[in-house]
Amino acid sequence: MINLSNQNLIDDKKYIFDYNFSELEEKIIENGYEKFRATQIIHWIINKNVTNFDEMLNLPRQFRAFLSSQFKITALNINTEQSTDDAATTKILFGLEDGSNIETVQMKYDPDSIIDNSSHRTTICISTQAGCAMQCIFCATGLQGLKRNLSTSEIIGQILYFSKTRKITNVVFMGMGEPLANYENTIRSIKWLISKNGFNLRQRGITVSTVGLVDKIERLAQEKLQIGLTISLHAPNNELRKILVPTNVKTTIDELIDAGKKYQEITKRRVTFAYALLEGVNDHEEHAIELASKLVNTATHVNLIPYNPIDTEKLRRPSMNKINLFSKILNEKGVNTTIRYERGTEIAAACGQLNTSSFNNVKK
Ligand code: SF4
Repeated sequence: MINLSNQNLIDDKKYIFDYNFSELEEKIIENGYEKFRATQIIHWIINKNVTNFDEMLNLPRQFRAFLSSQFKITALNINTEQSTDDAATTKILFGLEDGSNIETVQMKYDPDSIIDNSSHRTTICISTQAGCAMQCIFCATGLQGLKRNLSTSEIIGQILYFSKTRKITNVVFMGMGEPLANYENTIRSIKWLISKNGFNLRQRGITVSTVGLVDKIERLAQEKLQIGLTISLHAPNNELRKILVPTNVKTTIDELIDAGKKYQEITKRRVTFAYALLEGVNDHEEHAIELASKLVNTATHVNLIPYNPIDTEKLRRPSMNKINLFSKILNEKGVNTTIRYERGTEIAAACGQLNTSSFNNVKK
C-alpha cells in the first residue's frame, strides 16, 4: 500500500501507475473530487496515449492543476530504438530516473509473416529489474548483476510506450530480471494489465517466467489468476543446474517440478519448463532421457531455447540436428516440446541477450 500521507507538491509527485486503481480513486476522493475521475484519467493515458494532464480536456481545469501538482505519468525516457531489417522485432533502451537502463522488446507476428502464421499477435517482452542477480551463465543480463527492482510505473511504462502504435495482445515477463524477485511490483503490474479499469488484456495473454523461486511460485498460484507460468530448468539434474543457474543452488529440480505441478493444479493452466540448449553442456541424448524421466506424466510442456550468443566465447548453440534430436527424444517419451524460434538476434534482442550495452555493439 502506498503511503498517501505527506504528499506535497512537486517533490512528492507520484507516478500514477504506482497506485493501483482503488488507491487512485481514494486519493482523488480524499482531495474532494469525484471517484469517476480516476476512470477518466486512466482512459486518457491508456486509450488516448496522453502523457500530459493539461491535454485531458474533459477534466475541469482545477482538477487538472491538482493532478499536475500531485502526479507524473511517464516514468521512462527513450534512449535508443533498434529494429530488425524486417521490422518484426524492435528493441528499446529506456533510461530510468536514477540513470539505470533497461531493455524491452516488441515482437510482431503478422499473417503474412514468413516466421509463423499467428495472426496479428504482438508480444511485448518486458523487464522487471535493472540487471539481474541470478547469474545464469548463458544470459547477458545475469552477467551485469542486479542494480535494483523496477517500480510498477517503470514496468507499466514499457507497455504504455508500445501500446501507442499497435495493439498489444501478449505480454511476457521475460526481459531483464527475475520477476518473482520483484514480486509486489510484478503483481501490481499484472493487475493493471488485466483490469477492466486498466489495459483490459486477456489473462491468458500474459506469461511470467521465473528461474524458480519456489515460495513465490506458490504465492503466485494463490493469486488465482489465469496467467501462464514458465519455469526455467535448463538442466535435467541438480549437479548441472548448479553450474548453469549458480544462485539458485538450494532449489532442486524435483522442487521446481512439484511447484509447477501445484501451479497447474490450482490454476488449471499448463506450465512450461524452459530449457536453454547449450552445445556440449546440456544437449546430450542422456540429458534428454533424464529430463523426460522427470517430466513424463506431469502434463507440462518443454520450451527448448537454442542458445543465443552473447559476449562470451565459452558457449555455443547446438546444431539443428542436435536440437531436433533432443526434442524428438522428449516427444517419444511422452513429453511435449516446442523449439523457440529465434527473434531479433541481429539486434541482440533474443532470449538471454539483453544487457543495455548491446546498443553499442550491434548494427543500427
Ligand atoms: S535468464 Fe533471467 S533469471 Fe537468469 S540471469 Fe537472465 S534475466 Fe536473470
